[in-house]
Amino acid sequence: MRPPFIIDSMKQPLYFDYAAATPLDPEVLAAMQPYFTDRFYNPSATYLPAVGVKKDIEAARSQVAQVIGSRPSEIIFTSGATEANNLVIHGVLKQYPEANVLVSSIEHDSVLLPARQYAHKEIPVTEQGVIDLEKVAGLVDDQTVLVSVMYANNEVGTIQPIHQLSLLLQDIRRQRRHNGNTLPLYLHTDAAQTPSYLDLHVARLGADFMTLNGGKIYGPKQTGIVFAGSQTRFAPQILGGGHERGLRAGTENVPGIIGFSKALQAAQDRRHDETKRLQTLQKLCIDELQKVFPDVIINGSLKNRLPNNVHITLPGSDNERILMALDDAGVLCAAGSACSASNEEPSHVLRAMGISDADAQSSLRFTMGRSTDEAAVQQAVQALAAIR
Ligand code: PLP
Repeated sequence: MRPPFIIDSMKQPLYFDYAAATPLDPEVLAAMQPYFTDRFYNPSATYLPAVGVKKDIEAARSQVAQVIGSRPSEIIFTSGATEANNLVIHGVLKQYPEANVLVSSIEHDSVLLPARQYAHKEIPVTEQGVIDLEKVAGLVDDQTVLVSVMYANNEVGTIQPIHQLSLLLQDIRRQRRHNGNTLPLYLHTDAAQTPSYLDLHVARLGADFMTLNGGKIYGPKQTGIVFAGSQTRFAPQILGGGHERGLRAGTENVPGIIGFSKALQAAQDRRHDETKRLQTLQKLCIDELQKVFPDVIINGSLKNRLPNNVHITLPGSDNERILMALDDAGVLCAAGSACSASNEEPSHVLRAMGISDADAQSSLRFTMGRSTDEAAVQQAVQALAAIR
């Protein structure tokens, strides 16, 4: 049955799933375009036009390095965040096979599933969806080589205390050196959801490894990086022609690399203004939802949260039914993370926050972005009100 409130179907749908995918910025597309056609050369070739393409890749690498405050040689281009996360987890654990890894219980599956192939432990989160820092020291042991905690969660948008975590790990490293333990203790953060809103400076964060991707920042999908600090040691996972200094083989995705660097720069240039704008819309959205649904529960910390995320539970409702009805009404949002949409299990993130499976199945994620405005928020809430 179609809901009584239907947004004009001739119009573009109202998009509230920016955590899953962002449209390509036209300026990014324009920057990429020549590398599909005129500048198609293999960057490893020796003739002049190919050398020019290689130079463009290195310029993109330098631009990325400048944005995150690293050296260009610490950037490895990958096919996105899944590959980046796999490279860090497998790469480090294969380099140190006797060691173990500590991950937060709300990581993306591209961190959790590789970690589960090794000796591992999980850092619990509070009901607010933020890691319990006090538990970390007790979980790191003499054999822990890597701690992986995402910068912000893709489902509930909670921002994790990466800098504080790095200070804590710094103390443990000092203690280890004092005890003659030479095993490194690396900090990795999956920052895929954050470049449009948060500071990415790796030294300020205290990260040894960082994952980014293009598909969430108005850049091309299947692009991204691992930042790997020059002090890190890890085993490459894709072997071949020695590209990316032997750390990730395969002919470079030149348009993707150019597009990613441009998108990352634009995301960081706009982040202060965009954060302010979306914080206002986030507040409006929550206020309106609370007006219409007195029983609505907002999941996850409101204080430590990305400005584009509103994650709610409407107790007793069926999120699959609501999602379909919203789709019919021209509003596109998500029940959980798009990356696990094929998974029928209730979200591991909500479970880790202590949310019951019944409430998890009554939960919806609205994520906003550059095209979201006040009218879109009002219309989405009205559409939801008409459906429930
Ligand atoms: N990490 C996080 C936090 C994500 O949100 C996603 C995608 O949603 C990924 C990793 C996987 O990214 P990709 O699709 O680039 O492999």
